[in-house]
Amino acid sequence: MSISTLIMNVLQTDIKFIPGVGPKKAEILNKEIDVFTLGDLLRWYPYRYVDRSRMYYVHEIDGSMPYIQLKGHITTFETFGEGRKKRLVAHFTDGTGFVDLVWFQGISFIESKYKVNQEYVVFGKPSIFGNKWNIPHPEMDTYMTEADRPDGLMAMYNTTEKMKNHYLNSKAMQKIIENGLGMIKERLPESLSDDVIKSANVIPFHDAIENIHFPKNPILLRDAEFRLKFEELFYIQLNIVRYMSDRKGKLNGFIFTKVGEYLHSFYEKHLPFQLTEAQKRVIREIRQDAASGEQMNRLLQGDVGSGKTLVALMCMLIALDNGFQSCLMAPTEILASQHFETFAKMLSDMNVNVALLTGSTKKKEREAIHAGLLSGEIHILIGTHALIEDVVQFNNLGFVVIDEQHRFGVAQRAKLWSKNNQPPHVLVMTATPIPRTLAMTVYGDLDVSIIDELPPGRKPVQTLHRFDKKRGAMYQFIREQIQLGRQIYIVYPLIEESEKIDLQNLEDGHKQIQKIFPEFTVVKMHGRMKPAEKEEVMQEFVANKAQIMVSTTVIEVGVNVPNASVMVIESAQRFGLSQLHQLRGRVGRGAEQSYCVLITPYELSQDTRRRMEIMTESNDGFVIAEADLKLRGPGDLEGTQQSGVAFSLRIADLVRDNAILFRAREIAEELIEKDPKLEQSEHKVLKQQLSRLSGNRYDWGRIG
Ligand code: ADP
Ligand code: MG
Repeated sequence: MSISTLIMNVLQTDIKFIPGVGPKKAEILNKEIDVFTLGDLLRWYPYRYVDRSRMYYVHEIDGSMPYIQLKGHITTFETFGEGRKKRLVAHFTDGTGFVDLVWFQGISFIESKYKVNQEYVVFGKPSIFGNKWNIPHPEMDTYMTEADRPDGLMAMYNTTEKMKNHYLNSKAMQKIIENGLGMIKERLPESLSDDVIKSANVIPFHDAIENIHFPKNPILLRDAEFRLKFEELFYIQLNIVRYMSDRKGKLNGFIFTKVGEYLHSFYEKHLPFQLTEAQKRVIREIRQDAASGEQMNRLLQGDVGSGKTLVALMCMLIALDNGFQSCLMAPTEILASQHFETFAKMLSDMNVNVALLTGSTKKKEREAIHAGLLSGEIHILIGTHALIEDVVQFNNLGFVVIDEQHRFGVAQRAKLWSKNNQPPHVLVMTATPIPRTLAMTVYGDLDVSIIDELPPGRKPVQTLHRFDKKRGAMYQFIREQIQLGRQIYIVYPLIEESEKIDLQNLEDGHKQIQKIFPEFTVVKMHGRMKPAEKEEVMQEFVANKAQIMVSTTVIEVGVNVPNASVMVIESAQRFGLSQLHQLRGRVGRGAEQSYCVLITPYELSQDTRRRMEIMTESNDGFVIAEADLKLRGPGDLEGTQQSGVAFSLRIADLVRDNAILFRAREIAEELIEKDPKLEQSEHKVLKQQLSRLSGNRYDWGRIG
């Protein structure tokens, strides 16, 4: 056996054999953090480091400190509360001020272990409570001499509640990682090829792993971080780049050579307004793709109201000019039927056959549509996911549009590819702009087009933040707006786990609003209603027979009622930034000044207050998306969950590490250009790593 296979075997050691772990803890680690082998454990990277060589004074404490060390003594103990609410407080001082050390668990143990008036080194995270600094559940050491105090940078590990209950806190994780490293007798084999290591200028894998857990000094820590972040991003990019080059070599695309009668007569006679420059540019980009002989996979990003639908429609006419059918898939029935109506209206005097297929299309009509698609009589099909069912077969599908793509699963989208003997061109549209770094990672194999311009004459929506105790003035404002002829949305959050309570909130809200506005018609809408009921309510609202719509977020996506000018969002703190922006996009679609009112309780977390500020300050979807990414991290952004990216990133951060990301992409591109199939012997290690990684990860390729 060669040395390197021996080491591979060490990394594959079941964690239960690591000193200090055992079967019980191993099970917890398996379940909680997916750590099964020593190799997995070593890739459970610290999330921060604490400088244990620095001692702080109480009077230095401020709100921005993560972890600190203090040296001093306890003056008195006090207990508060009863039963599960009981807490123990130790008043602690170092002569420069007081902090409270607080315990909620293990109280009797703590009381018996620590004594008043004895020197301790206290280590923990200060927070403020009722005007006083406190440190909950600090680490306590009896005072040590300078010599045996832990010094340098100490790694801190994320742990879950369950792990903590089984004594697997950060310190314990550090200990078992130390024991695990102790089992490794040889240097770890490289996980990157030599040429990549050289281009990226990174330190060896072995040194990176050691220093990420036990940094010898800050410089080595930085190098270790760089190496591991690079590696993580590099493999994602390598996979995408390899797939792209593969696809371009293999898949032919339908060729749309001409612009013909359909597009011409639409452009000349039916287009109700001038295209914006951005719309023109995007249509040009799509035409270039569709004439190239390669299959198009393009992501169209454009803020709410930027006119993506029209772009889709015009591209479909180009497809039709070239003898191809098209389809448009929307995430909800409301949206699909709105698109259908828009298309039908815009194409009304033209000889274009448009059909609508949703879950609630009647059997007879459905069969007629199926037949019309097969014969080629229907040119454009609009629908919900009903249109990906196997029974839906086309005569010659050439162009597919997917609206609000983050709502669809990858598998659903991939199904559309097989609706012709060669995959159709695919355009996915989203109003949730994705920052470039994220797009490169999540949608890395898609080309991106951006509409960065709103149609002329739009007034930016004015956004206000109001506390829920002060609704009176807002109701007055709503009344005035309705008297001016406008319409109002009031949205309540809906979170699935507590759907019942939320629906109750909606019902109560509806009753209350109707009581406040007896002179107006108030309708309500939620996801549990039958499609026909929703449609009926929508029609009533569109026709301005109802002035106020009380709704859950079912109206979030796409709905277009230009006369609606006020969007009130109840419990706005429960929504993410991109969702708030989407909701706000339902107003401001007409010529009138529109408003969005965010209602929250007075007490808000810092993050939430920041979110409300961003909303009131900016109307720009890209700014909001960047802010969202910074505030929440990519894990919570819509679209990242299904792709699995968020879960696979262990150390790299798509916001902070974008320079590393761009470099990783470059190196991956150079490499694939030289060795597209990774066949050279020095690239064997890359191929192995890729297949190991894609084994437990989402298949990056099939995003389109
Ligand atoms: P979104 O990009 O959010 O899907 P839509 O396609 O629904 O936006 O367009 C929003 C509104 O703007 C629609 O009422 C549409 O008719 C209108 N619109 C689209 N393009 C233009 C344009 N170039 N000039 C004026 N209005 C436009
Ligand atoms: Mg739209």
